[in-house]
Amino acid sequence: MKYALVTGASRGIGRAVAKRLASDGYAVLINYQQNEKAAQTVKDEIEAAGGQAELLRFDVGNKDQVETALNAWREAHPDEHIHVLVNNAGIRRDTLMVFMQDAEWQQVLDTSLQGFFFVTRALLQPMLTARSGRIINIASISGVNGLPGQTNYSAAKAAIIGATRSLAKEVASRKVTVNAVAPGFIKTDMTAGLDESSLKQMIPAGRFGTPEEVAAVVAFLASDEASYVSGQVIGVTGGLG
Ligand code: NAP
Repeated sequence: MKYALVTGASRGIGRAVAKRLASDGYAVLINYQQNEKAAQTVKDEIEAAGGQAELLRFDVGNKDQVETALNAWREAHPDEHIHVLVNNAGIRRDTLMVFMQDAEWQQVLDTSLQGFFFVTRALLQPMLTARSGRIINIASISGVNGLPGQTNYSAAKAAIIGATRSLAKEVASRKVTVNAVAPGFIKTDMTAGLDESSLKQMIPAGRFGTPEEVAAVVAFLASDEASYVSGQVIGVTGGLG
């Protein structure tokens, strides 16, 4: 059995990725921060479809929580290794830079960037030892092009893209690939407050994307077929950007 850890898998894109990887045959570790009920629903749905899943609660931006949870998982599964890591957990705290508070800057970087670092570092050595692994980082079109009101979020996502490119070069010889997926506007809780009817006019496809459309790209990057794809940033934007 191959294991996949998806951070922020209780809702939105992470939920769709967890369900897709489970249907592709992975035992999925569903990470979440606080929404236990939603995480349990994802687990129930995966199991009802014949898949395998476990809940793994921790705040990706809290080093102690990350290490405690992943060490406990390892002790409970001494012969197993997590083959796929999807760094998906993320938040946005949009405001113009002139009004941005320290906490709005820090919380966004803690979740996306620190989260990437703490979780990836914890899983990297076993992947290198096993000479097998897939790391997929959910970035954003905002980290590629920038968007007003998102200097914190754009900074975090652009940093993830830089880290993806460097880490890919560090670990390629050990058969570990590292890629980023950069979604545009995707229908989730994160975009629920946005006005799709006006925003879709600037999207060539004329609509927001679905979490499943992002999950399909993640599933490809996680697959054996993607063994020669590394250090890339793949947009899922409906032509935007
Ligand atoms: P979402 O619907 O708001 O879901 C966020 C998920 O992240 C939830 O499962 C949440 O867990 C989890 N999470 C938040 N902070 C966490 C933390 N500190 N530790 C662990 N889990 C945490 O978001 P989404 O739209 O699916 O976005 C997923 C990723 O895609 C994010 O990285 C986002 O930046 C990126 N993205 C989204 C879009 C878009 O249009 N939606 C576009 C580009 C990029 P709880 O349920 O426990 O709160």
